[in-house]
Amino acid sequence: MLISGGGVAGSTSAINIGEKAEVTIFEAKSASGFPVKCGGLISEDCYVAYSKYVDVKKALLNSIRGAFFFSPSGKYLELYGSSGAVVIERKIFDQLLLREASKSSEVVVKSKVDAVGDRKARIITPEGEKFVEFDVVIGADGAESRVARDLGFRRPEFFVAKQYLMEFEVLDEKMVELYFGRSYSDGFFAYAIPLEDDLARVGVVSRGNPDEHLRVLLEKHPDVSRRKKGGILEVNAGAIPAGLAEFVRANAVLIGDSAGMVKPYTGGGLYYLLRASEILGEVFPDLQAFRKAYLGELGKEYRTGESIQKLYGILNDSEYDFLIEIGKDVDFSTIHMDSPSSLIRLIPSALKMIKKPALIKKIAGSFL
Ligand SMILES: Cc1cc2nc3c(=O)[nH]c(=O)nc-3n(C[C@H](O)[C@H](O)[C@H](O)COP(=O)(O)OP(=O)(O)OC[C@H]3O[C@@H](n4cnc5c(N)ncnc54)[C@H](O)[C@@H]3O)c2cc1C
Repeated sequence: MLISGGGVAGSTSAINIGEKAEVTIFEAKSASGFPVKCGGLISEDCYVAYSKYVDVKKALLNSIRGAFFFSPSGKYLELYGSSGAVVIERKIFDQLLLREASKSSEVVVKSKVDAVGDRKARIITPEGEKFVEFDVVIGADGAESRVARDLGFRRPEFFVAKQYLMEFEVLDEKMVELYFGRSYSDGFFAYAIPLEDDLARVGVVSRGNPDEHLRVLLEKHPDVSRRKKGGILEVNAGAIPAGLAEFVRANAVLIGDSAGMVKPYTGGGLYYLLRASEILGEVFPDLQAFRKAYLGELGKEYRTGESIQKLYGILNDSEYDFLIEIGKDVDFSTIHMDSPSSLIRLIPSALKMIKKPALIKKIAGSFL
């Protein structure tokens, strides 16, 4: 079996398929995990789930208790869900997983999967091109997936993200900050993920022009602009899928960003791709059973997440201000960052508090 891509999706797929097949992972770069295209924020439950595979403590940078949701005018509400979160360093995390995968699979770095047919792929290596045959192929090759393109998979839409690692005075080093409003993102939100009290990953996910949104966030946001301390230490950019697309076709499977396996309302991919690799491992080589089981477990979460994402695109600034104000009276303690359906339970009581027909129509309309 051939896996294109030695990132988290490729490594976890190889580990979970284990002894059920002879696996070769081709990784285009000399190592996976860089340049970093990730905030590294995962739920505590996701951290525990990955800890079954590798010692994630080695990649741990910070632990998080909750989040501040900022309205466009700079007011915020504090939200503590049912699970905490942690921040990890992807450069280390991806390497730990690839090393673990190499115990049961052959890992070939600096080798790009350049063309994929039904049962044969062309690989570009430092020594030149070579052809390999496979019975099953896994496209774990990210947003640009060669496997997805060559085999004609229907592709997801993508947001673009830009993120700085920078000196930034966070409000609380154990709280993530999320910034809503049209000035800071087109269709999504901006964020600061603290690593220390004066160091954070500050970024924007947007339909277009994240550079401009990030500039406005850092220079014009009523609160954020006062807290930036200068020094940008790293710049990361990347595509974030808008939601799940086709992921099984004949003898081919896509796992991870290649298939849009991210939470549509946060852009976080690490939990949903891990579950995909685990379910694939359980039923391998029955790819249709994998498709069915994955959609059975997470299909509803994707649909709900897409509805929330739709709202980001249609709420205006004064509606965000209003929702964040009334949100202060809502009990969010049962919601889980990996499960949008846990938020849905709060909607009926929230709608009663809103009392604004146009806004109720927008919210209800997103979920229809
Ligand atoms: C700015 C930003 C912030 C994010 N923050 C978070 C976050 O806080 N939490 C979270 O859970 N998720 C986050 N995400 C999403 C998360 O990073 C992705 O969902 C995750 O990295 C997907 O893993 P993957 O293995 O599918 O793809 P990738 O990490 O992209 O790995 C793909 C691998 O395939 C290799 N490859 C590509 N093409 C080929 C080829 N043709 N042949 C061989 N190898 C190939 C690449 O070199 C790479 O190593 C963020 C994304 C961005 C862009």
